[in-house]
Amino acid sequence: MIPASAFKHTVTERFLRYVTIDTQSDPCSPTSPSSEKQKDLGRLLAAELREMGLTDAHLDQHGYVYATIPANTERKVPVICFCSHMDTSPDCTGRNVKPQIVRNYRGGDIVLPADPSQVIRAAEHPALSSQIGNDIITTDGTTLLGADNKAGVAEIMDAAQFLIDNPDVKHGTIKILFTPDEEIGRGVDNVDLKKLGANFAYTIDGETAGHIEDETFSADGATITIEGVSTHPGFAKGKMEHAIKIASAIVDRLPKDTCSPETTEGKQGFLHPIAISGALEQATLGFIVRDFTENGLKEKEALLERIVNDVMKDYPRSTYRMEIQEQYRNMKEVIDRHPQIVEYAVEAIRRAGLRPVRGSIRGGTDGSRLSFMGLPCPNIFAGEHAFHSRLEWVSRQDMEKAVQTIVQLAMIWEERAA
Ligand SMILES: [Zn+2]
Repeated sequence: MIPASAFKHTVTERFLRYVTIDTQSDPCSPTSPSSEKQKDLGRLLAAELREMGLTDAHLDQHGYVYATIPANTERKVPVICFCSHMDTSPDCTGRNVKPQIVRNYRGGDIVLPADPSQVIRAAEHPALSSQIGNDIITTDGTTLLGADNKAGVAEIMDAAQFLIDNPDVKHGTIKILFTPDEEIGRGVDNVDLKKLGANFAYTIDGETAGHIEDETFSADGATITIEGVSTHPGFAKGKMEHAIKIASAIVDRLPKDTCSPETTEGKQGFLHPIAISGALEQATLGFIVRDFTENGLKEKEALLERIVNDVMKDYPRSTYRMEIQEQYRNMKEVIDRHPQIVEYAVEAIRRAGLRPVRGSIRGGTDGSRLSFMGLPCPNIFAGEHAFHSRLEWVSRQDMEKAVQTIVQLAMIWEERAA
């Protein structure tokens, strides 16, 4: 175990440099990476990794950065990868980020200097209450910060530097992977897992210090197409069956107090309409279905079909078609086959001086896709808060804890190896 005093306080300085580089991804672009500017950060990271002595560090044509920290032990240790994404959300501008540091935070609201209407209110950001005495990094109020996920990038970079500077800290082969386009759901589209050559991975992209998430939603899409009966409106009595009205009746009969994003939390799933279009003759409804279990998904899809059937009774000459598309699956199913992945991370968080908290994500991560591509990959905290907004913030102390967690985790894999 390494004492906290052995670590330098360099992660913030790295972070402040990385956030000034605009890496916003673009959901409308068909290219990979979706925006060329993501490579600006990728090139810098690859150069810094080579400067550290990681000779294979490089940025590939799709905007992925790969690097290897060679093993310094005789033991046979599984190859572990640490992964973060370089892009920032299209929801909020990431151009000209001007980070501010509130040193020794005393509690209360934080007013952002360039736009005083932007206030990080203590009442709306309860996580601030555990940051008293810490240094909080925010923007000036005109952009997002990009702690999602440049906090993770800076933490992995800082942990790499620590391992290189401290050869007495034993570890197996460590792979570093920085990805583009996570925010637009394309973060692992062009990853080369064979080249990466890792057995297990961790994304460093979680929120609160101490948290590890090994569970995501399972997700399906559902499309309902309704064929109504069209006639001239002047001569429609007793004949017309209006597809728009049928679609509206289906939406109206969805449960109102349960089973929706606005009425659920924790481990509850939902049925959520995301698109409606149509005319008299034909209408289409798009849904997303979310739950933590396969069974829960099937139940919600059955409920949707019962509602549709029920509505259709009033329209005997109309028909419908319901199609289900699989989107992604809860990574827990894969991660549970290798319980040591989470067990070691929990121990590393404890050694970093934090209380480990296991959680689940009400969404998908790159890790959920990586897990099913053969690289089991839970998510460890990076310390980022209020992401995708101008109120985004992260604390220096949480980032330093994340660096310690990464280093301790590399060590634990070595200790436990044969
Ligand atoms: Zn993220």
